[in-house]
Amino acid sequence: MTKIDNGYMQALKCRECGREYPLTANHVCEFDFGPLEVAYDYERIGRNLTRETAASRPQSMWRYRELLPVAKDPTVGLEVGYTPLVRADRLAKCLGIRELWIKNDAVNYPTLSFKDRVVSVALSRSKELGYETVACASTGNLANSVAANAAAAGLRAFVFIPADLEQGKVVNSLVYNPEVISIKGHYDEVNRLCAEIAGKYAWAFVNVNMRPYYAEGSKSMGFEIMEQLDWTVPRHTVVPMASGSLLTKIHKGYQEFIRLGLVESSPYCVHGAQATGCSPIAVAQKAGLDFFKPVKPDTIAKSLAIGTPADGFYALKVMKETGGSADDVSDDEIREGIRLLAECEGIFAETAGGVTVGVAKKLIANGSIPKDDSAVLCITGNGLKTLDAVAGHVGKAKEIRPSLREFEALLNNEEKINR
Ligand SMILES: *Cc1c(COP(=O)(O)O)cnc(C)c1O
Ligand SMILES: [Zn+2]
Repeated sequence: MTKIDNGYMQALKCRECGREYPLTANHVCEFDFGPLEVAYDYERIGRNLTRETAASRPQSMWRYRELLPVAKDPTVGLEVGYTPLVRADRLAKCLGIRELWIKNDAVNYPTLSFKDRVVSVALSRSKELGYETVACASTGNLANSVAANAAAAGLRAFVFIPADLEQGKVVNSLVYNPEVISIKGHYDEVNRLCAEIAGKYAWAFVNVNMRPYYAEGSKSMGFEIMEQLDWTVPRHTVVPMASGSLLTKIHKGYQEFIRLGLVESSPYCVHGAQATGCSPIAVAQKAGLDFFKPVKPDTIAKSLAIGTPADGFYALKVMKETGGSADDVSDDEIREGIRLLAECEGIFAETAGGVTVGVAKKLIANGSIPKDDSAVLCITGNGLKTLDAVAGHVGKAKEIRPSLREFEALLNNEEKINR
């Protein structure tokens, strides 16, 4: 990778009052408690980042590195991203839309979720800032990614999770041997404890004091979608929402490419998806409100179970600005969404993917996404990590003795049933 100096990042900037802060581990404005966001020198970026330079680089999220907040060469997660964008004709037919694409982060490297994007940025930046211990408050996938990437980078890691997480997600953290701290409480309580710990220990908490850098990693999902659609902005994008950060950052990514002239400006809508059992943002959007009301989560989509979403306010704003909608789906509709995606496209997504497919189906049916348009669904995690959610809902294997006679009896029987 070519050496690029520090000049693309300018400051941390308050989203509310615009005050600027140095590029340290800091996430909140001391005047109004507004969230800090990385500000860039777009003029310099524009001189260096062209379609051709990006396309000439290795196929990872770092091909857009001028727009990602590390000062020197990234050191963690060099292989992350550039996941497939799959044309999904069979699912399109099923959902009743002309053209459909799946952005498949269920196969992201190394831990099979979109969180590898945010973690590679957060840990690369943490190392630049001199941290030796990293940590996170997680609904599951973030813990997996911090644990794995910290192991590979030789960093000490603490991951904090709610005690009721899926076994698959817990084992997928433990295997890398970080400190896994299981909290008797829901995610919002885990997060509150982590904010306290971050105030006391000099650790890089990827989604607390490192949040401005961490969150920028999500933009790369949007960058890749545009490049993979031949440098255009998709007309509709459906994004699952936990804190709401991914949705706001996909929008920011689209805006940055438009601003830099890497894509032509065209109308687009960003839509949000939640589970009914934890739908503070979707409920507010449907009621036309600018603010959400916190909830206590109760859903199989545990990766999205954040009752007090940190970026909920900004996610609502993005949907309003782009003409996007939100909706939510029940646990049964989530399982149905997982099965539809698997049966139509051969992609096994976790519960969050079921949420995205289920909500897309609703938005197409109610006209929020017109049937003759084109849409991208963001599939953000892998079904192998949430087997419990669908086991018992996917039929059963047919058991026979190792005998041709028994097999043919079974086959005849099936054909009778199917006739
Ligand atoms: C974390 C996560 C999201 C969305 O997270 P945001 O907090 O809204 O950025 C979506 N899908 C999966 C599978 C996740 O783990
Ligand atoms: Zn401020």
